[in-house]
Amino acid sequence: MPDPSQAADDVSPDARIDGLRFDDRGLIPAVVQDDHDQTVLMVGWMDAEAVRRTLSTGRTWFWSRSRQEYWQKGATSGHTQHVRSVLADCDADTLLVRVEQVGPACHTGTRSCFTADLGAEQSSAPVPS
Ligand SMILES: [Zn+2]
Repeated sequence: MPDPSQAADDVSPDARIDGLRFDDRGLIPAVVQDDHDQTVLMVGWMDAEAVRRTLSTGRTWFWSRSRQEYWQKGATSGHTQHVRSVLADCDADTLLVRVEQVGPACHTGTRSCFTADLGAEQSSAPVPS
């Protein structure tokens, strides 16, 4: 098995992007996580060009499905995200973008977009034998 961390250095960014599995709209979800404390900040959509821009600029770029245009996180709000790493998951159809977040990640002013608790029942994992 090739070492994935080594592969990232050996393969060009374009080849790495080609290896991703975009959906039928040409998009891939990108989960953005705080690199310091692991807080999940937000989820956005990227197409191949947004991934390329994110990898090459060190800032997060997304594709807006509603506006049909690229947007750079923080370009208007100043709440920028400075990329520390971009990882693909095991199916290569979801990205994890670890960032240094400036200010709140959510446009509502909260640090994370994930604030609406749906009230799940909590169950205990079986005690390991
Ligand atoms: Zn939000």
